[in-house]
Amino acid sequence: MIRFYNTLTKRKEEFIPIEDKIVKLYTCGPTVYDLAHIGNFRAYVFEDLLHRYLEYRGYKVIRVMNITDVDDKTINGAKSQGISLREYTDRYIKIFLEDMETLRLKKPDFLPRATEHINEMVELIKKLLEKGYAYYKDNSIYFSISKFSSYGKLSGIDLSQIKVGARVDTDEYEKEDVRDFVLWKSAKEKEVWWETEIGKGRPGWHIECSAMSMKYLGETFDIHTGGVDNIFPHHENEIAQSESATGKKFVNYWLHCAHLLVNGEKMSKSKGNFYTLRDLLNKGYNPVAIRYLLLSTHYRDPLNFTEKSLKQAENTVKNYNEFYQGLNICASRKYNPEIKKEIEKAKERFIKGLDDDLNISFALSSIFNLIKIVNIFFSKGEFGAENVKEVKEFIEEIDSVLCIIEKKEEFLPENILNLIKEREIARNKKDYKRADEIRNILKEKGIFLEDTPYGTRWKKITKT
Ligand code: AMP
Ligand code: ZN
Repeated sequence: MIRFYNTLTKRKEEFIPIEDKIVKLYTCGPTVYDLAHIGNFRAYVFEDLLHRYLEYRGYKVIRVMNITDVDDKTINGAKSQGISLREYTDRYIKIFLEDMETLRLKKPDFLPRATEHINEMVELIKKLLEKGYAYYKDNSIYFSISKFSSYGKLSGIDLSQIKVGARVDTDEYEKEDVRDFVLWKSAKEKEVWWETEIGKGRPGWHIECSAMSMKYLGETFDIHTGGVDNIFPHHENEIAQSESATGKKFVNYWLHCAHLLVNGEKMSKSKGNFYTLRDLLNKGYNPVAIRYLLLSTHYRDPLNFTEKSLKQAENTVKNYNEFYQGLNICASRKYNPEIKKEIEKAKERFIKGLDDDLNISFALSSIFNLIKIVNIFFSKGEFGAENVKEVKEFIEEIDSVLCIIEKKEEFLPENILNLIKEREIARNKKDYKRADEIRNILKEKGIFLEDTPYGTRWKKITKT
């Protein structure tokens, strides 16, 4: 049974999707005005873990991640460079997708751009106007929060101080500023705008996510995620807009990750305390270690970023891969059934951990424990060829979730494996002539052998 901590109910709940074995997931995506920093990537790595784990547990995941390609920041960025908004945002979308790939983040099924969904937003705003939840003021349109009686249910904000009719035009604001928020901004000189049925203007940020999530996932869907900074006002406003328009519950499970910190403060563009992924790659860090670092702390615990912790992550990833790559061994000893039992135990604990609100630390500890046990059996020579295979298969199986192994094309055809086995037998019979012959045949083929007390390990060396 999978359980998630739901920000809406403030407790861990059993996860039951609306449709059996299908999960509809919406993850708030980037505002493409600059490079994403690794704080943003903490949120995307958490969402990747969620996505991959649900698939591991047999669900079909339908996932949407929006791209905010129109807002104050993108408009100003394009203006300052004297290029079109499209050209400006295209550049950062391309970089974002490359960064996602570098961090081995699964591509969502839909990556809708706000500027390509203006009609959907206009339709939603029209509905809100018709139903009396929205009103015009100076050609802009605002959402009247006093009309939505459960406003505040996600973030738990204090509504007692609200002044009815007080408005806020910016997309991002603090809890102290809770007011009627803007759905549609009237056109300004030299800004991007659309001529629509509701007037000349452009959308606010919040309406974008309501319109695009409901378009692709339906009026009620399973999971919506983001960083904790999204809870208020962004997600609170999404609920208000969507539920007012449809009269239905918008989302069943709200999951939020804690921040990536630097010296105890949120990593953010505005504070200037950020690293982009490329900053770290330029310093020579391994992207898989960055992924591992962001992945290996529970998503609801704050994570303080230091280069020291990144170096530790690099070591862990290196050791893990050495273990995995070392599983190229034609162990001649007999099959050890204990190892299968240990794999099953580790798998059970891996699932138990991640089922419990993605408790990654518990899940990982079961894997490291298995590696320890396997190494002991290995050093004692209590390890057969089939054991090698089953450990390797298990590490590969869970890598569909973790994505930290470096796969070299370490695959040998059957006839070569048979030669290695033949050589083992020859050595056991002290027929060193035949053993050397085989060693030389394999060397010619770029396969080098290393004899260990418990079997022969092979390595492929590509000739330069
Ligand atoms: P933004 O581009 O600012 O809308 O942020 C994109 C995503 O990154 C959102 O889900 C934010 O909640 C998340 N985010 C921003 N800063 C951090 C941080 N320091 N740690 C974790 N998540 C963050
Ligand atoms: Zn959003």
